[in-house]
Amino acid sequence: MFDQNSPEIKVALDAVRKASQLVRLVQTKTFASALTKGDKSPVTIADFASQGLVAHLLSQQFPTTALVGEEASDALKAPGAEKLLEQVTEYVGRFVPGTTADSVCYWIDRGAAAPAERFWTIDPIDGTKGFIRGDQYAVALALVENGLVQIGVLGCPNLTEARTSEPGGPGSLVIAVRGQGTWLNTIEGFDPGAWRQIRVSPQAAPAQARLLRSFESGHTNVSQIDEFADQLGVQAEPVRMDSQAKYAVLAAGEGEIILRLLSPKQPDYREKIWDQAAGSLVLEEAGGRITDLDGKPLDFTSGRILVNNRGVLATNGLLHDKALQALAAISA
Ligand code: AMP
Ligand code: MG
Repeated sequence: MFDQNSPEIKVALDAVRKASQLVRLVQTKTFASALTKGDKSPVTIADFASQGLVAHLLSQQFPTTALVGEEASDALKAPGAEKLLEQVTEYVGRFVPGTTADSVCYWIDRGAAAPAERFWTIDPIDGTKGFIRGDQYAVALALVENGLVQIGVLGCPNLTEARTSEPGGPGSLVIAVRGQGTWLNTIEGFDPGAWRQIRVSPQAAPAQARLLRSFESGHTNVSQIDEFADQLGVQAEPVRMDSQAKYAVLAAGEGEIILRLLSPKQPDYREKIWDQAAGSLVLEEAGGRITDLDGKPLDFTSGRILVNNRGVLATNGLLHDKALQALAAISA
C-alpha cells in the first residue's frame, strides 16, 4: 500500500478528485447548450476553474512549492471576458466558498512558476478535444523532485476501472508513488479503504500487442504508426484514445504500447511536462517502461518543455526493446 498519511499524497488526491468533479459538472451543466451554439467556452471554463482549484488546494498546504501549469489568467482578465471569469469563479466557489474573481485569477497564475528543484505540475484538462467529444480526458498532477516524478495522479472521469470508456460512470482515480506502486479508486463514491493495485499486461508477443495512440491525427504520424505495427508484427488495429488516460489504461493491463510519434506537420513538436509527468510514473510504478522514440529516458529537468526528448514510447516493459528496434528500423 502507498503511504496514505503523506501530506503531499493526501492533498494531491483531494485536488485531482475535486477538479475531476468540477470538470464533470461543467460538462453536464453547460455543455449541451453551448455545443449546439458552436460555443467552445465550457472547455475554457473547465480548464481555468480546474487549474485555479488545484492551485489553491496545493498552496494551502504547500505555500512555497512552485506550480507549473498549462493555463494563465490573461484571457480571463481581458475586456469582454467578464462573463467567463464570473462562471469560472462560480464553479471554483462551489468547492471553495467565498472565492472571488481576483482570488481565482491569482490562484491560476500560481501556475506560471518555472520548474524548480521541487515543483508540482498540473494539466487541468489533458485531452481537451476528447473532453469536447465526450470521450477520454484527464486531470493530471505530478510532484517532481530533482527531475524525478515522485507522485503522479490522474483523474479520468469517463474511464471505468482504468480500462473501459464509460461517460457518466464512476470514473477512475489513479495514483502512483515512487517505489510504492500504482493504485486505483473511483472518483465518485471514492472510498479510502478501496484502493486496488494495478499492473501492466504480461503480454510478451508482439502479434498480440494492443497499441494505443492519440485520437487526434494531427498529434501523431498515422502512416508511420502502420509501418511500425507492420515492422513489429502487430496484428490488431491501433486503438485511438485521447489524453493521459492512455497511461492509466496501459498501467491497468488493457493495452501494451503507447506511441507518440511526431506529426509530419510539426516535426519539431516537443512534449509539455504536464502532458507526461503524472502518466509516466503511473505506468512505471505499474511495471511498465517509458522512453522517447530514441530510447532515452524522459528528462524532467529541462523546464516546461521536454526539449531533450523526441516523441514517446511507453510499453508494458516486456515489449519495449522490440518496439525500439522496430522504431529504429523504420527510422521513426
Ligand atoms: P493526446 O490526446 O494523446 O493527443 O494528448 C493530448 C495532448 O497533446 C495535449 O494536451 C497537447 O498538449 C498535446 N499536443 C498538442 N499538439 C500536439 C502535436 N502537434 N503533437 C503532439 N502532441 C500535441
Ligand atoms: Mg495536455
